[in-house]
Amino acid sequence: MIPYSCQNISEQDIQAVVDVLRSPYLTQGPVVPQFERAVADYVGTDYAVAVNSGTSALHLACLALGLGEGDWLWTSPNTFVASANCGLYCGAHVDFVDIDPQTWNMSTAALAKKLQQAEKQERLPKIVIPVHFAGLSCDMEGIARLAKQYGFYVIEDACHALGGRYQLDFIGCCRYSDITVFSYHPVKMITTAEGGMAVTQQAHLAEKMQRLRSHGITRDPGQMTTSPDGPWFYQQIDLGFNYRLTDMQAALGLSQLTRLAEFVARRHTVFQHYQSLLKDSPVIFQQQPEACYSSLHLLVVRLQSNRLSKTRRQVFEWLRQAEIGVNVHYIPVHLQPYFQKMGFQPGDFPEVEAYYQDAMTLPLFPALTEEQVHFVVDRLNEVLN
Ligand SMILES: *Cc1c(COP(=O)(O)O)cnc(C)c1O
Repeated sequence: MIPYSCQNISEQDIQAVVDVLRSPYLTQGPVVPQFERAVADYVGTDYAVAVNSGTSALHLACLALGLGEGDWLWTSPNTFVASANCGLYCGAHVDFVDIDPQTWNMSTAALAKKLQQAEKQERLPKIVIPVHFAGLSCDMEGIARLAKQYGFYVIEDACHALGGRYQLDFIGCCRYSDITVFSYHPVKMITTAEGGMAVTQQAHLAEKMQRLRSHGITRDPGQMTTSPDGPWFYQQIDLGFNYRLTDMQAALGLSQLTRLAEFVARRHTVFQHYQSLLKDSPVIFQQQPEACYSSLHLLVVRLQSNRLSKTRRQVFEWLRQAEIGVNVHYIPVHLQPYFQKMGFQPGDFPEVEAYYQDAMTLPLFPALTEEQVHFVVDRLNEVLN
């Protein structure tokens, strides 16, 4: 089976992990801050906080921005459930903003319209989480303008988008947001097995997230309520978690980061190859706006059902039978039973529901060969024609 995505582990990566295994620290030690510094420098931000998953990073980002009971968090319905669950963890209400039919990202126009209505009902969101779907940046300049007008915080869910760019910057520089979150799950741009990171330009947010990833404990006398009893002293001043990343994982991430540019470039080569081979086929690609350079985490196509005699499901099953690990990203989050129990229903977000009817993810990862691309395209054209 050719997977839709997979990790790319080198001998150098393996050696980096083995080196940590022979060192005094296995859990969070000296390599974690090195990894944090390296990612912060790469994306052009001041602070980075490594944690044990992208989901944990989203949770801590929400907490650092003070999200709590009675607050509203809005995100895209075209995402993994974690982008919405982080709001629920904090006791907040979650709502969604429909997608743009061309970029499949949160629509800025839909956001503007929903904000107008929410203002009248005095239910403005405290946090909006745009998701850079498949590695393509959202319209961050437009979203930041609305954030200023309506006074909400912005967390970029860039779990797909490490190595992607928007305007002149790498995604993660936080020019148009408070915090940006990455995932290092094996299918993502680089991996630490499980792992994630929150990056920010704001020292107080970084400090809060650092404390919350380790039980809410501080060892800084400046933050304590009393002077330390002695050199052993620490205080718990917040309710935090054990969300720490290990040094073994950080070493893997640090080593992987040295190949990120190569991974992104290779994904672009493969993507262009797919595009030229599929240019006459009844499929639509994600529109790539001028200001964006996608990391190309995912290659999603929409099947043009009006030009086809087969359903998406038939095409999907046929390709799986041919040992091609196609997938669907995503089932709209508001249609999950847990969210329908909160009152969401089919029809709430028509653009993402239409998208879900005909979307399909094809294999795209750095080690995918030209022959494999031909194989996938040939099988796809067979079933589409
Ligand atoms: C993968 C992913 C997450 C969660 O990351 P984990 O590291 O798996 O916890 C969140 N949001 C999006 C868009 C993702 O793709």
